[in-house]
Amino acid sequence: MQVNHRHLYGLEHLGLIECLGHQLESNTAAAFLKMQQAAVSDGLDIQICSAYRDFDKQQSIWNAKASGKRVLLNKESQPVAIELLSSSHLIDMILIWSAIPGMSRHHWGTDIDIFDANQISRHDLRLISQEYQADGPCFQLSQWLDSHAHQYGFYRPYQENLSGVSPEPWHFSYFPISKDYINNYHIESIKAVIADSSILHKDVILERIDALVDEYVFRVAPIPAL
Ligand SMILES: [Zn+2]
Repeated sequence: MQVNHRHLYGLEHLGLIECLGHQLESNTAAAFLKMQQAAVSDGLDIQICSAYRDFDKQQSIWNAKASGKRVLLNKESQPVAIELLSSSHLIDMILIWSAIPGMSRHHWGTDIDIFDANQISRHDLRLISQEYQADGPCFQLSQWLDSHAHQYGFYRPYQENLSGVSPEPWHFSYFPISKDYINNYHIESIKAVIADSSILHKDVILERIDALVDEYVFRVAPIPAL
């Protein structure tokens, strides 16, 4: 597949369409609507809380966390004080729950965060693991997706021990398209994009860039065998 390099890093994306108030890559949108429809008869209302996000949006999230304007959570989803952290440690802490701009799969339009709107409102949803575990409002959805998501082309790239990113049971990727994106992802391109950005602590990010890209972009769960 021919891939436009600028959209691998969130700089532009010409293949997006509007889907339920979000922007998605067009094949991803069609597959999502089919999956959503199929889940209705099992009592689920699958809704999207986050889809396409461009570089600038991700940069504003990153910089808000790096400057203390937005709360930083540790692995246990507890708030962390940032004042005493070194740049490198701060980067590691932000990376628990947020991607470096240019390194988010949400730039691709193929990746979505989803929840069960029959069980919890968008407003109350926190996107924490407990919500998708036994007794959580999205547990039934999570089990349904375990059995059915791959039939619609979706899978979880961020799984325990299979990804450098924390497990995100709500995050699904449309692999027929995203597999080509990851195959075209390029370390020299992302270096140039970051060097040219206003990302806070970008100098330390660039010192560590090879390891960070390996850990947070390339190290994801393998796509399911069909
Ligand atoms: Zn996500």
